[in-house]
Amino acid sequence: MSNEKIPYKIYLEEKEMPVNWYNVRADMKKKPAPLLNPGTGQPMTAEELNTVFCEELVKQELNETDRYIEIPEEIREFYKMYRPSPLVRAYCLEKKLGTPAKIYYKFEGNNTSGSHKLNSAIAQAYYAKKQGLKGVTTETGAGQWGTALSMACSYFDLDCNVYMVKVSYEQKPFRREVMRTYGASVTPSPSDTTEVGRKILAEFPDTNGSLGCAISEAVEAATTHEGYRYVLGSVLSQVLLHQSVIGVEAKTAMDKYGIKPDIIIGCAGGGSNLGGLISPFMGEKLRGEADYRFIAVEPASCPSLTRGVYAYDFCDTGKVCPLQKMYTLGSSFMPSPNHAGGLRYHGMSGIVSELYDQGLMEAVSVEQTEVFEAATAFARVEGILPAPESSHAIKVAMDEALRCKETGEEKTILFGLTGTGYFDMYAYQKYNDGVMTDYIPTDEDIKKSLDQMPKL
Ligand SMILES: *Cc1c(COP(=O)(O)O)cnc(C)c1O
Repeated sequence: MSNEKIPYKIYLEEKEMPVNWYNVRADMKKKPAPLLNPGTGQPMTAEELNTVFCEELVKQELNETDRYIEIPEEIREFYKMYRPSPLVRAYCLEKKLGTPAKIYYKFEGNNTSGSHKLNSAIAQAYYAKKQGLKGVTTETGAGQWGTALSMACSYFDLDCNVYMVKVSYEQKPFRREVMRTYGASVTPSPSDTTEVGRKILAEFPDTNGSLGCAISEAVEAATTHEGYRYVLGSVLSQVLLHQSVIGVEAKTAMDKYGIKPDIIIGCAGGGSNLGGLISPFMGEKLRGEADYRFIAVEPASCPSLTRGVYAYDFCDTGKVCPLQKMYTLGSSFMPSPNHAGGLRYHGMSGIVSELYDQGLMEAVSVEQTEVFEAATAFARVEGILPAPESSHAIKVAMDEALRCKETGEEKTILFGLTGTGYFDMYAYQKYNDGVMTDYIPTDEDIKKSLDQMPKL
């Protein structure tokens, strides 16, 4: 295959599609720390978790030993509607940069939610339906997760209640309408529909809202209504497991053409697309079969890996969720209204945090304006208008490719292009008008929030 020109887009055939998710924890010698009950400080049991989450998802959350977990037939059928996602060779971007590097991206924006989030939404809705639930509650930041979940719930005829971070609710009315079109009900958060929302509003009446706060509201709504459970679009190990479909497809496609990436890059909000993309490659690294460089890219405005601490923290502002050991800026950290709404989370997946802490991967933070510069350059040559979140990965992929141009190295770079930016035109407008600003929290800002973390 080596002399053959690699196709612009590599699609797997139906018979090559993954039948299993890959559980990277099975190959980790040191596992991520367990979730703790905030009341007792003891590891959360399945029974405790079952009051908030669906039973089968709790099993997946706690499963550290099975390397492969079968993707149920019904979910594979749904995946077929929009998967495989293409693995694209960015020939035009390479040419534009004049780099000897080979750049590939795995494009997850080919569905109405416009992101990878549907991969986990459909799995979570499936297990909720199988358990006989009436519906689910959730939070959404930029709106991609809420949209994905609305689509999944309408497919399985489940009720879907979405708490949407207030700033996004106002900035993205069309996102909201897509969700409502799929039958979801959408509430701006913080709201007066929950106790925790009312408390936060009383303390911070002008708040823009945050993911952590919307999570608290959604959890409360689930646990106070019969037949409802809470579902989460990132951070949890079960979500990363579902997102491994991205990595398994990418690796299968690359293996088919004898391509081996040197560097794998993903944007990191809660860590699910990055974790899912790198999982099977990380598995090889953990088993000593191959080596790769992995780079997590986060916004300088919300830098949990690069400036946070690795400690037990609350996953939500309202402190109702289990404690998770992760890289965090503190659950009371209120990020500036960065336009990459999907990356405005104070914490990080426990799996990604542990891999990073073991030195198995790197992290960098980038500023908003340079991210939009990269996004625009990419859009002009590759034809896809990228989501601001995804553009964090584009920026670092371009940086690495330009480094190859200096050194003459022909490295192969793979990055995750998580979605499209059609609902982010307000942010693009600010960039085009030259009025986009970069906000970087001071050490003082971060310390203030870290000081309020739980003392264990
Ligand atoms: C939600 C989202 C992200 C970030 O979430 P992760 O869990 O870190 O993957 C990235 N890109 C897009 C397009 C998103 O919607």
